[in-house]
Amino acid sequence: MQTAEKTSAQATQDAWNKRPLIISGPCSAETEEQVIATAQRLAATGKVDVLRAGIWKPRTKPGMFEGIGAKGLPWLQQAKKITGLPTAVEVATGKQVQDALTFDVDVLWIGARTTVNPFSVQEVADALRGVNVPVLIKNPINPDLELWSGAVERVARAGVKQIGLIHRGFSSYGNTEFRNAPMWHLAIDMKLKHPDMPIINDPSHICGRRDILLDVMQRAIDLDYDGLMVESHIDPDNAWSDAKQQVTPERLAEMLATIIWRKEDVASEEYHAALEKLRQQINHLDDELMQILGKRMQIAEQIGQYKKSNNITILQTNRWNEIIEKAMVKADKLGLSKEFITRYFDAVHMESINHQKRVLDS
Ligand code: PEP
Ligand code: MN
Repeated sequence: MQTAEKTSAQATQDAWNKRPLIISGPCSAETEEQVIATAQRLAATGKVDVLRAGIWKPRTKPGMFEGIGAKGLPWLQQAKKITGLPTAVEVATGKQVQDALTFDVDVLWIGARTTVNPFSVQEVADALRGVNVPVLIKNPINPDLELWSGAVERVARAGVKQIGLIHRGFSSYGNTEFRNAPMWHLAIDMKLKHPDMPIINDPSHICGRRDILLDVMQRAIDLDYDGLMVESHIDPDNAWSDAKQQVTPERLAEMLATIIWRKEDVASEEYHAALEKLRQQINHLDDELMQILGKRMQIAEQIGQYKKSNNITILQTNRWNEIIEKAMVKADKLGLSKEFITRYFDAVHMESINHQKRVLDS
C-alpha cells in the first residue's frame, strides 16, 4: 500500500515536471467501461501523462448532461490502477474537492465557469488548505486577466504550491471560427505575469470542432506552451458532452506525432551569433522608429499651435481618412497586414491628438 501510494505520487510529480505535459481523456466520465477503455487506449499510445475526465459538468443550460457525479470517481481510481496514469478532474465546490481527494484524484482543475466567480474559487481554495495536490486554473470565460490572476492568488494563498494555467479561450457573442476565441495575446500576457507557472493549452474548448484542433495545438507549441489538454473519447460522435470536439485516443496520438515540437533555446553558438546580429539590427531599427515618432509628434505640436491661434478643432476626419487610405495601399506593397497598420495608425493618431491637446490647453 505504502509503495503503491508513493508510486502514484511519484507518477504525478513526473507528469507535472514533464514537457510537454499531455493531459487527455473524455469531456465527461459516462460509464465505467468507457473510462477504463479510454484510459487503456490512451496509455497504449505512450504519449499521454495524465487522464482527465469531467465528473461534475457545469453546463450552460439545464437539461444537458450534468456529469455522472461522485459515482464516477471509483472508475477513475480503477483506470489509474490498471494504466498507472495519474487522474485529473474539474472541481467547483468544496465538497467536490473533498470527494475527489477521497478517491485519490491526483490533479484538480478549476473550470472556466468557476474562475469567473470569486466566491466559488475561494470555496475551492479553502477546501485545498493543507492539501498537497497540483491545481490547474482555467482562464475565466470572459477575457479578464485580473479575474484569472485573482483565482491564482486565492489558490496560492491557500498554500497550494503547484499551480498551473490552462488557456481554453474566451466566450464571445456571435459565431466565429472558434467556439471560444483564443485571444492568444491574453494568454501570453498571463504567462509573462506568472513565468514560474506552467501554461497548458486546451485546444478542444477553443476549437469546439475536430478539424482545426491540430492547427491550434501547433500554434500553442510554437508559442512555447508547457503542455496540452485535449479531450478524447472511444466513440467521439456519441459522447454525452462536447461530441464535436473529441477525438479517439489513436487520432490524438497521430496528431501529437504530426506536431513539430519546438524548443525555446538551443546551445549552438552559430545559432546564437546569427540571432544576435539580427537582433542588433532590430534594436537599431526600433531606435530609429522611436526617433522618427518623436519628430512626428513635434510636428503635430506645431500644427497644434496653428490650430490654437485659428480656433480649429483637433480632429479633422477627412484628413485622417485620407492618411489611412494611402497607408493601406502602401502597407499591402510592404507586406504589412491591414489589421496591423490600422492599429498602428490608430495608436499614432491618438498620441498625436494628445500632443495637440496639450498645446491647445497650454
Ligand atoms: C471541460 O474541460 O470539459 C470544461 C468544462 O471546460 P471549460 O471549463 O474550459 O469550459
Ligand atoms: Mn468539455
